[in-house]
Amino acid sequence: MAAESNANHGGRHRHVLLFPLPYQGHINPMFRLAGVLHARGFAVTVFHTHFNAPDPASHPHYRFVPVPDGMSGPAPVAIEDVVAHIVSIGGACEAAFRDRLAAVLEEYSRDAVTCLVADTHLLPIFQAANCLGVPTLALRTGSAVSFACFTAYPMLCEKGYLPVQGMPSSSNSQLDTPVVELPPCRVRDLMGIGKDGHEVLCEMIAGAVAAVKASSGLILNTFDALERRELEGLRQDLAVPVFDIGPLHKFSPAGESSLLRQDRSCLEWLDAWPPASVLYVSFGSLACMSPRDLEETAWGIAGSCVPFLWVVRPGFVGGCAENHLPERFEAATRGRGMVVGWAPQEEVLRHRAVGGFWTHNGWNSTTESICEGVPMLCRPYFADQMGNARYVEHVWEVGFEVSGELERGSVEAAIRRLMTESDGAGMRTRAGELKKASAECTGKGGSSCLAIDKLVTHMMSL
Ligand code: UDP
Repeated sequence: MAAESNANHGGRHRHVLLFPLPYQGHINPMFRLAGVLHARGFAVTVFHTHFNAPDPASHPHYRFVPVPDGMSGPAPVAIEDVVAHIVSIGGACEAAFRDRLAAVLEEYSRDAVTCLVADTHLLPIFQAANCLGVPTLALRTGSAVSFACFTAYPMLCEKGYLPVQGMPSSSNSQLDTPVVELPPCRVRDLMGIGKDGHEVLCEMIAGAVAAVKASSGLILNTFDALERRELEGLRQDLAVPVFDIGPLHKFSPAGESSLLRQDRSCLEWLDAWPPASVLYVSFGSLACMSPRDLEETAWGIAGSCVPFLWVVRPGFVGGCAENHLPERFEAATRGRGMVVGWAPQEEVLRHRAVGGFWTHNGWNSTTESICEGVPMLCRPYFADQMGNARYVEHVWEVGFEVSGELERGSVEAAIRRLMTESDGAGMRTRAGELKKASAECTGKGGSSCLAIDKLVTHMMSL
């Protein structure tokens, strides 16, 4: 039976309930998943916090249920604060969510609700749903290997690899120790935020693993051609089914879940450039740069003489609303560069003019780059970004890391290596091969398509 017809139950729509973690890198894949399930015939209800609330007008086919989160004041900026916030969100919403879920169940009738899909970082939401008899599925928006690191975290602490002393960019010999249990990772590639943040990070990771254990399945935004070995490992270790249905952005339209307005004028600007000539530079929605690093980056970009499109989002430099690029930067790069506050990233990466991506290696950015065959300069900041960068360089060989202190000379050399030298051309070729492999996974009969069929069948059986 076609999976699509499964979502209709005796002529009635079946409902799926979703609850994303309210951060851009988590919202995007959850909304792509909503698109996939809606296309398969499910009616979609999205529970969401007030913090970083989605715009219902951008999704007229979904129902939105706001859940008070008790959050007031500005969004956290420092990574320790972001992690503490993530840990607190589920608990802060739990009681209000329970009330709203009970009301929704009464309205839709219990039988019509298939399940709740929530972000792995919302453990109390899973518990509340399960208490009301609603089956749950967990969406992990990172890679399979990053979740394998989560499950291995207590062992890594026990063996003394963690807590990490210092940030991944610091020079400390402990950071270069190979993690023999998780090759090719070194200690610096594991998720860590220094000794002070260790406890809260452990709580976040343990919560995510517990959420998966409390659920009826794990949905991963990855695909077989990228992480076959890691997926096999997870399937052996976890007692719940694992659905590798990514990259989700290839199944569902882009843009409408962006929290910031995307400046589309850069697409027109890109039209004027030859194929694979422009470097796209963006560090995602959370990473910040110091004024010093901004200056070195700017002069490195300027010195490379490579055309560039650079996303400098509000708050990017030390959390300040105003970002001050060096005074003479614009004059020095006039005619070959564009700086925007936020870009339509998926479309930018798909543009034929883009030949390289200087990225922080958030998982979405990494897969978006891979799917368009764009090689990467990697500058990971925190969370799973170091592990992603390690895989980009040492497993998929489609980029390399810009490590150590940022200095204009080394930045310039790294950009040239990626964009104009034979080394970079080799990475571009391999990225092209991965692009083809990803298209096969998302194409008809491909592994991700089959996984979506299996997921829908599983949801209907819950
Ligand atoms: N993004 C975007 N415009 C930009 C920069 C990023 O739309 O100018 C999107 C990007 O396509 C990705 C998400 O924001 O889907 C960032 O997620 P990622 O996991 O890469 O990083 P995070 O923001 O979570 O650090």
